[in-house]
This record gives sequence, structure tokens and C-alpha cells, in this order.
Amino acid sequence: RVLVGIKVDESHANWVTAYNMLTGIRVAVSRTNAKIDRNLTDADFYVKQKSTFDIAGNELVPSAKYDFKFKDYAPWVFRHLRTLFRLDPADYLMSLTGKYILSELGSPGKSGSFFYFSRDYKYIIKTIHHAEHKFLRKILKDYYQHVIDNPNTLLSQFYGLHRVKMPYGKKIHFVVMNNLFPPHRDIHQTFDLKGSTIGRDYREDDLGKNPRATLKDLNWMRRKRHLELGIQKKQMFLTQLQKDVRLLQRLHIMDYSLLVGIHDLKRGNEENLRDKTLRVFNPGGNIPEEQDVPASVLMRTPSKLEGQRRARELRHMIQAEKPVLMGETSNRMPDELEEGQSRPGFVFNQDDGGFRATHEDNTPGDEIYYLGVIDCLTHYGIIKKLENFWKGLSSDRSQISALAPQQYGERFYNFITGVTMSQEQATREAQEKDAA
Ligand code: ATP
Ligand code: CA
Ligand code: CA
Repeated sequence: RVLVGIKVDESHANWVTAYNMLTGIRVAVSRTNAKIDRNLTDADFYVKQKSTFDIAGNELVPSAKYDFKFKDYAPWVFRHLRTLFRLDPADYLMSLTGKYILSELGSPGKSGSFFYFSRDYKYIIKTIHHAEHKFLRKILKDYYQHVIDNPNTLLSQFYGLHRVKMPYGKKIHFVVMNNLFPPHRDIHQTFDLKGSTIGRDYREDDLGKNPRATLKDLNWMRRKRHLELGIQKKQMFLTQLQKDVRLLQRLHIMDYSLLVGIHDLKRGNEENLRDKTLRVFNPGGNIPEEQDVPASVLMRTPSKLEGQRRARELRHMIQAEKPVLMGETSNRMPDELEEGQSRPGFVFNQDDGGFRATHEDNTPGDEIYYLGVIDCLTHYGIIKKLENFWKGLSSDRSQISALAPQQYGERFYNFITGVTMSQEQATREAQEKDAA
């Protein structure tokens, strides 16, 4: 099943980084999870816990393959956040502990951040800039309170904030967050929407080469797309979005976008879009190796029984305060994909993990949307002010993506409001436009 082996040379550095990230998470998270739960204190928001890993290991830190330092930020806050987001502690560790993690080929954004998927595709590790890291720590309390007040928030769900540092290497900060897209459904189209038009165009000519590219605002408008939600769902969605945007405005955040993944039920999963081959890091093996593996093989979730057995093993190890070591859990893949693993209880994940389109009369439509507000750690700092100034000299200021946070939020919210309507309403509006 494993297709091609790729020799490790220049990309070896990435492999070690990935290995160290996972080892650090595993040890840090099991350490916090092993303790009896307690209420948060103010101090918890500012805690950093440092571990030094080496080949020898010691009482507190198991031996590792490489020398590196690891920092776990606000571990109790993130433990509580994971509970609020209803993650099972054992499941979380298992996903990030499994034999494989995946990396998307390259880094999708312009920022140079790297993205890694957990083996089961549920979690994303994103490396972030030092400024974003500092900022997240600063706003953590507001974010935490927002999640308490808004269990259905559309904002990125942060599950952990960490740092690795290798000898002579740079400090690498990263977050663990939710993958908005489900492991078990083809996503036929992806849009990253900001409500801006300038520079917000994916070259349509390039779509042939890369049919699964993330499209932007202008591509959305060209296609006359809508988020086809009936009256009730539209209201639920926009009400939550507004609350989330208000928080971002208050915290002077900008540059975020609404990520929209569309699953077309008429097309189903037949095209096996998920079956693209992904670069795999295999930290569980005895020798560092990277391989290309069909994604479907890796995204298979363990069968219920298998999953329960592995969860038991893990709980056992966690309770025993024994760090979970690589390769100790079974990695056997069952043949069946488990369908419909939605996230129970969350409004925008109620339809097979997403939010299904509805008609005006509330009957279900043909699409499932996977929605969330991403990239929300950019503070309107001096850099953005400069960017605004320079771009402002040359074009219409309200169309520039770097606006002050207040205006950015307004433009963003207005744009999304404007494109959220049932198919019927969209048709009516188009006819009215034609008539005028
Ligand atoms: P830039 O600052 O240039 O926009 P970035 O490196 O900060 O880029 P993001 O904007 O966070 O990156 O994400 C880039 C792309 O990665 C998104 O457009 C989306 O396709 C994918 N992506 C990011 N976060 C998620 C997520 N939580 N779930 C699924 N896909 C995601
Ligand atoms: Ca972005
Ligand atoms: Ca960014």
C-alpha cells in the first residue's frame, strides 16, 4: 500500500522537527492529563513549562532520539479548552501519537507557516511567528472566556501552544488546532474569503493544474456563489459570526478569513479526492524515513473496537503517569472508513461534521459546508499600518485588505452577510437585478 519511498536528505531537518514536536506534545500533554482536574487560576494563563529532552532521559522526561528543548504554554488552560471543545483526552493523544503525521506539500499561505496534519486528519499543527505566539498568550484569557460564552464559536479552536528548539536551531512556535475539513468527505471546492477584492483572486488558468486550490473572494463572486442557508440556519450562522467578529475587532485582530469547504452531495465521495498522495513523516520507524502514501490509507479511522482498545491502553498509560512512547499503540488500519463522525453537540458540525445547505422552506439542500474563521492571530501592528499607508496611496482604501480592525471586521461581516442566502432568494435577487 505504501507507494514510494523518498530518500531523506535535505528534508531531513523537517523530519526531526516533526518528531520533536510530537514527542514534546506527547510528554507534556500526558503529564498535565495525568493530574486530577482543577479550576483555573489567573496564573495558569501565563505558565510556561520547560522540558529538556536528550538521549539519556531522566525521571521526568523519557529519553528521546534527539536533543531538544520543549516549552508547553498554559497547559491547564489548553487542557480546559480541549474539554470545552469536547475532545477526548486519550483520543487527542492518540491522534498525535500515532505512527504517522502528515504534512501537506509545502506551506499553503504566504506567511511561510508550515502545516502538518495528524494521522487521522483531525488536527492541524501550524507553525506560527513569534509575534503571533506572543499575541496568543496575551489574548488567551479573552479567547478562553469567549469559548465559554460561545460554545459554537466559528473561530479556530486552539488545543495547544508549544515551542521546540533544537541545538543551534531557531525557536519554532506552533499551535495545534482543529482541521475544519472532515476525513471522510471529499471537499469539492474550497474558498478563503476576506471580503476584500484586491489581490483576492486565484488565477483561473491555474485551476487545470491544481483543481483543488483554495479559491478567493473574486473567484467566489465570479461564480455567483452563495452560502445557501434558509432563514433559520442563516440567522444562527450570522449571529455567531457577528459575535466572533466583535471579539476580533476588540482585540485589534485582522487579516482573518472565513474558510469554506463545500461538499457536493450529488458528487459524493466517488471521485476519491481524498486519495491524493501525501508526504508522510514516519517518526515511529526505527530509521527516519519519509514516504508517499495514499491519503485514504492514513485517514482511515480505527474501527470502534480497535479504537476502544487503543483508548483503554492510552488511558492506562496516562493514569500511570507513564509517557506514551512511540509505537506502543497499535497502528493497524481497519478496512472500513467510519462514516458520519460528526462532532456531537456543535451547531455548525451537526450535519455529518458540517452545516448542510437548506432551502427557504427549510428542506435540506445539496451541499454540506465546512466553515470556520481562520488565521486569527494577526494583530494590527505597525507592519499593517505601514502596508495600509503604502497601498492607500495607489488604490481605493476600502478595498485594501489591511484596514484598521474595526473596518476590517465590518467589511468582512458585511461581505459574508451579503452572500448568505437561500437559493430561492439568490434567484429572486438576480431576477430583480436583471429587471432593473
Ligand atoms: P497567510 O498569512 O499568507 O494568509 P498563513 O500561513 O497564515 O497564510 P492560513 O491563512 O492560516 O495560513 O491558512 C492557509 C490555508 O491553509 C487556508 O487558506 C486553508 O486552505 C488551509 N487551512 C488553514 N487553516 C485550516 C484549518 N483549520 N482547517 C483546514 N484548512 C486550513
Ligand atoms: Ca490567511
Ligand atoms: Ca497569517
